[in-house]
Amino acid sequence: MNESSSTPGTGASSTPSPADAGMVIIGGGLTAATAAETLRKEGFTGPVTIVADEAEIPYQRPPLSKGFLAGKEDEDALLPLSAKWYQENNVTLLTGIAATALDPRAHTVGLSNDTSLSYAKVLLATGAAPRHIPFPGVDLKGVHTFRTKADSLAMKELFTGGGKNVVMIGSGWIGMEIAATATELGNKVALMGLEDVPLSVAIGNELGTVFANRHKEAGVQFVLPASAAEIQGTDGTVTSVLTTTGVTLPADIVIVAVGVVPNIALAKDAGLTINNGVEVTASLQTSATDVFAAGDVANAMHPATGAYARSEHWANAIASGKVAAKSMLGQTAVLDDIPYFYTDQFDLGMEYSGFGALAKDAEIVVRGSLEKREFVAFWVLEGRVVAGMNVNIWDVQEAIKALISSGRTVDTTKLADPETPLEDI
Ligand SMILES: Cc1cc2nc3c(=O)[nH]c(=O)nc-3n(C[C@H](O)[C@H](O)[C@H](O)COP(=O)(O)OP(=O)(O)OC[C@H]3O[C@@H](n4cnc5c(N)ncnc54)[C@H](O)[C@@H]3O)c2cc1C
Repeated sequence: MNESSSTPGTGASSTPSPADAGMVIIGGGLTAATAAETLRKEGFTGPVTIVADEAEIPYQRPPLSKGFLAGKEDEDALLPLSAKWYQENNVTLLTGIAATALDPRAHTVGLSNDTSLSYAKVLLATGAAPRHIPFPGVDLKGVHTFRTKADSLAMKELFTGGGKNVVMIGSGWIGMEIAATATELGNKVALMGLEDVPLSVAIGNELGTVFANRHKEAGVQFVLPASAAEIQGTDGTVTSVLTTTGVTLPADIVIVAVGVVPNIALAKDAGLTINNGVEVTASLQTSATDVFAAGDVANAMHPATGAYARSEHWANAIASGKVAAKSMLGQTAVLDDIPYFYTDQFDLGMEYSGFGALAKDAEIVVRGSLEKREFVAFWVLEGRVVAGMNVNIWDVQEAIKALISSGRTVDTTKLADPETPLEDI
């Protein structure tokens, strides 16, 4: 397939040979690492090549806005697999090299170093990138997005020591996590977003307020609902943000965290079906033969709901990386996990399982205390639990997932009663 080397950063041959083509994985995130590991665990001994455009071996992102940013976790916490693993398992890592073209008919991938690879099966694990909104002043020095290890390292340097005015544009999970970490490091954070209550798109006003109140206690200023009318600066460097509600917020650092968009360019140019990401079956097969997609970029048919869902979460990167690898090997594999994610903000630890799309129309039932910030919230639709979230209460995820997957009708009075075991509902 290529002049295989397990040393990160080495190039690929310019003369692909379809005869010995192996598995090619495009992308250098958690999905890619998990897929490579699964291919080897499942006994595949042929060539495996990961094409990763960042100059890093594959890493996971959740610590970037939490422990790694706060200086509590080191680089090892970012690595699902060590550099040694790739060498020992004969997986070729092409770091700092982008896949620039995919030809599903010829079974080839063109690379940014003007070489190409041939493949037997290819996995698109290209993830997602921060959404860019052309706010006036967005190009000023001091305005950032946040996705990569490099972004986290740059922000760690700016936040450490404290005393900075940080303006966050975006009131979703990433914005709230970075706001918490920046505040803990002694900075003054002002946060704006389009909702009345942060996180309300994901979990509703009542539960979003629990997180907002914790942030307020720590000194985070919310300007809601509001967007940025103009990012203002002097001599090319940011000094303040004028909100659409007429508030001027002083700013040394502005972070734009307004969601992500899936990296679909390669798939689109290759003629694959695009539908809020790369559309795939429950086995993660794209519309092209021998081409699979997984992780943040893939919009997969979920067998439980009969609807497409694109998950932008850590657990999905792992689960879908495994399923994709098995599908590439011709095994019968289906991505039918109940979606799961987690967040940590100040002393609030949270886990969520369920189908967010169904939860939008559901009744929320709380067991525990919102005031004490120790509770489990359930989303109940037509008598059935479709999602559940535990905050500062642990070891209940399996029971929550069992309730969701059972599809059984529940008694909401019992559901709200902490004395009734979840298994008995
Ligand atoms: C700061 C932060 C915190 C997060 N915290 C949480 C959390 O607490 N809980 C949770 O559940 N989820 C969290 N997430 C989400 C989670 O990290 C993602 O769902 C996960 O990273 C998806 O993995 P992926 O491998 O599919 O995509 P990515 O991690 O985006 O990796 C894709 C990689 O492919 C590369 N690539 C793209 N195109 C090409 C190409 N053409 N050629 C080569 N390489 C290419 C990209 O540069 C990138 O390196 C967080 C995300 C961020 C950014």
